[in-house]
Amino acid sequence: MSEHNYDVIIIGGGPARLFAGIACARNELRTLVLEKQTYPIDKACGEGIMPSGVNNFKKLGVAHFLEKYPYHLFKGISYVSAKGSVAEANFAEGCGWGVQRTKLSAALLECAETLPNLEIQEGASVACSLEENPEVSIKNNVFHPKLLIGADGLHSRVRKLANLEATIPKLKRWGCSTTF
Ligand SMILES: Cc1cc2nc3c(=O)[nH]c(=O)nc-3n(C[C@H](O)[C@H](O)[C@H](O)COP(=O)(O)OP(=O)(O)OC[C@H]3O[C@@H](n4cnc5c(N)ncnc54)[C@H](O)[C@@H]3O)c2cc1C
Repeated sequence: MSEHNYDVIIIGGGPARLFAGIACARNELRTLVLEKQTYPIDKACGEGIMPSGVNNFKKLGVAHFLEKYPYHLFKGISYVSAKGSVAEANFAEGCGWGVQRTKLSAALLECAETLPNLEIQEGASVACSLEENPEVSIKNNVFHPKLLIGADGLHSRVRKLANLEATIPKLKRWGCSTTF
């Protein structure tokens, strides 16, 4: 078993986590992202990046990787209930970007691959334990990062391991996206 040293390990490589990985690497932290799927990754999503998200993409130098892909500006959100009542509002400031999920995934990966402090392993099946210190093992490697970020999605195993399960809200929300 060989030992590797990373400051941060992120389990799960969705958009939020690739973004966190880029932020860690830009702060000189040796960071490893472990993703079980292969890129680009698709997922049911309304594909809307809110203005605050767009600003953060610009701050972290991700925006120009995204701008080479088609995106649509949107100025607000409207919710339509099953009975047809509508609630809608424009953003107080700025516009959102409507971007296809796979393009977002590809752009974030391209940005991540330019950072020497950031390593991405895709197709990774990970085991981890949160006893005294976080331990992550994959194939013949064992890691003891200073920080472990559990970003393995809606049914997160890391969240379960950390006893951070929350009660699931009763009210279900349905999303459907329409293109004009
Ligand atoms: C219908 C719908 C519409 C939505 N619309 C929007 C929207 O318009 N705008 C918006 O901002 N958000 C939207 N969201 C929410 C958005 O999809 C999530 O907030 C976002 O995907 C969270 O990103 P993430 O990286 O945390 O997790 P995910 O995108 O869920 O990524 C988790 C990743 O972890 C990986 N993984 C899981 N287990 C392991 C493991 N054991 N080892 C390694 N990897 C693992 C998975 O393969 C996956 O790639 C929507 C969600 C839904 C359901």
